[in-house]
Amino acid sequence: MICPKRTSELLDLHLAPFKDKDPAWEIGVSKIAGRGVVATRSLKRGEIIFRDSPLLIGLAAHEEDSLNACSVCLKMLPDTRFMCRQGCGLPVCSLCAKKKQHKSDCDLFKSWGPNEPDVANSVIIRLLCVARAINLSKEQRDLIYCLQANLDNNHRTEVRNAAKCFKNFPTDKKLIEIMNRTVAVLRTNGFDKTTDRTNDNQEFNYRALYPLFGVVNHDCIPNAYYTFEEKTNNMIVRAAVDIPEGFEVTTTYTKLFTGNIARHLFLKMKKGFTCKCSRCSDPTEKGAFISGLYCRDTNCTGLVVPEISGLPHPNWNCLECKQKSTHAQMMKSQDFASGAINAKANSNSLRTLVQYLNEKSDSFIPNSNYVVVDAKMSVLQRLQQGREDCSEELANNTRLRYCRDITHVMDKLGLGDSLLRSQLEEQLRREEERRAKRLADEAEKQRKLAELQAKAAEADKLLEVLEKEQKEQADQAATAAPAGTADPGTAPAPPPAAAELA
Ligand SMILES: [Zn+2]
Ligand SMILES: [Zn+2]
Ligand SMILES: [Zn+2]
Ligand SMILES: [Zn+2]
Repeated sequence: MICPKRTSELLDLHLAPFKDKDPAWEIGVSKIAGRGVVATRSLKRGEIIFRDSPLLIGLAAHEEDSLNACSVCLKMLPDTRFMCRQGCGLPVCSLCAKKKQHKSDCDLFKSWGPNEPDVANSVIIRLLCVARAINLSKEQRDLIYCLQANLDNNHRTEVRNAAKCFKNFPTDKKLIEIMNRTVAVLRTNGFDKTTDRTNDNQEFNYRALYPLFGVVNHDCIPNAYYTFEEKTNNMIVRAAVDIPEGFEVTTTYTKLFTGNIARHLFLKMKKGFTCKCSRCSDPTEKGAFISGLYCRDTNCTGLVVPEISGLPHPNWNCLECKQKSTHAQMMKSQDFASGAINAKANSNSLRTLVQYLNEKSDSFIPNSNYVVVDAKMSVLQRLQQGREDCSEELANNTRLRYCRDITHVMDKLGLGDSLLRSQLEEQLRREEERRAKRLADEAEKQRKLAELQAKAAEADKLLEVLEKEQKEQADQAATAAPAGTADPGTAPAPPPAAAELA
């Protein structure tokens, strides 16, 4: 184990530009592994724990990525004439071409002589982040050596492959060793699409090493989460839940919605350790049943979960009838469900997928299973992008339902704040607002209707009164006139006696 004191000193140097006078953390002995970041006072949910800046950063340049991005500012460039005119083999924008950072990258790569400097080569571009370690100060390089490195058989492949792309690649053992070590540290602690170090479903088109964050240990229910400042690429780490003084700050190196077995395998293979957190020690994963499958006995309604054994192929137990199943037996059910749901997901019709998830899938796979959770996440993503084949009403109802479902899973797992949670809550808030507005609009419509109806009723009453009055007047007139006279309005005829008198 590298001494926490030395790590602290080197981190202090790295963080000098923005380290708080009274930081809320220190490097201490960890209960999880070796050393970690420990809270020096109690932290409230949402509070900033620390900021970190990238010691190394560069384009990830995975083969499938577009390579027309600037190697300095990482911004996308037009897809023609984006390579450096000096022949260093790196893409660079016209602004950054004049910057000190590119001058140093350019000199280094030109001296190595790229085979085809005008052609964007993902291997060369990807190596830049690693090669930049060569020009760091001694303290900065020491800091890289302070970080955990999974020195497995593969960590030398990247530099070995890159060497083939240059005419004069260095042969100096010391330089090669620095680069290989940097690759291993990046793979263990860095951000990169391939290493999947994400707690927020973010994808990275760059690879980067944040040294203080690199010391933060893993927990499958992390108590911290991070976001990035867009302009600087600096990282802000916040408390996901209240963290008491003396507690270790943790993050997650795996996806949140994967079952115990898949997380174990990933952590073992990619990060070289076995997690013993509270979630990993609980076959039900805190009652979230992310791996849960139905019992093979069709008369039993119980859920089946994998045993905690540390084995890649554990036995599974039904929590109800206690029946044991082999891993292979349960994988058959899982594979069938995954296949069926993925087929619907790939069918291009969002409406079909939503109907399937709402009405069919729970007959063969529990809604808590990660395949269902993943499918719902992808539905939300597709709704976010728009242009789907479903009515606005279906889209709104689905958004509301799935956001609630997923936050419910997060609550079950005991997960606090994260970028994902705030995105879901934001969608929920908007959807609930829309709903409230619709209800208010409806109520207003009803109110207006009632008002109109009241007015109409009043008018009816008035009319009735008028009619009644007219009728009464007519009746009165009729009783005043002698019987037989047709018109009550004409003057009465002279009495017959008068005629006789005349
Ligand atoms: Zn640029
Ligand atoms: Zn150049
Ligand atoms: Zn764990
Ligand atoms: Zn059972």
